[in-house]
Amino acid sequence: MNNYMEEKRMVIEAGKTMLNSGLTVGTWGNLSVRTADGKYIVITPSGVDYEKITPEMMSLVDMDGKLVSGKKPSIEAGLHLGIYKKREDVNAVIHTHSIYTCAVAATRTDVPAVLDEMAQIVGGGIKTAKYGLPGSQELASNCAEALGDRMAVLLANHGGVCVGKDLKDAFKITNVVEVSLKSYCLAKSIGNPVALDDKDVNFMRDFFLNSYGK
Ligand code: 13P
Ligand code: ZN
Repeated sequence: MNNYMEEKRMVIEAGKTMLNSGLTVGTWGNLSVRTADGKYIVITPSGVDYEKITPEMMSLVDMDGKLVSGKKPSIEAGLHLGIYKKREDVNAVIHTHSIYTCAVAATRTDVPAVLDEMAQIVGGGIKTAKYGLPGSQELASNCAEALGDRMAVLLANHGGVCVGKDLKDAFKITNVVEVSLKSYCLAKSIGNPVALDDKDVNFMRDFFLNSYGK
């Protein structure tokens, strides 16, 4: 059987980068990818230091949530699976507890698209999912619902979730969201951030997806 070594190594490296770039502290947050055959997800094990995770510890979970190999999966495996099941375009999910993402999530408010990169990268504003306890089915369904067809969502009083077509893409989105929310917090402290018009948001998203860099 394929042991998905490449996926495991990729997720481990991304976990260390997430920690070292200050997007989380301790063992909080979690990361996963969908395997290329679409049968499983490779997800970080629950409560293990990012620097100590080995490929053997990485959790291989089937689409019904059953652990196939590795250690006990992240308590948010159900949240990751809920997104993969709803979104065929998503092959990587990153959940962070980063500072500005958490600050906004604590206010339980939706963030309008106020910066060009939010329109381009996230696809518009960022919603905050209704509160659910960490690891709960309630949180998983609230998250998938609030994410909709966007690339990022906040979890009330908890953190953020970014998705991508692959891990590199999801990581880029994670960084853009954190920086955008930092700008949003600063903008809030000096005035009223102004939401972009929907038509401009749609234009920028379309340009980014279809023409930018091509
Ligand atoms: P895990 O260590 O189980 O992934 O939990 C961390 C977390 O952020 C829960 O929301
Ligand atoms: Zn969390």
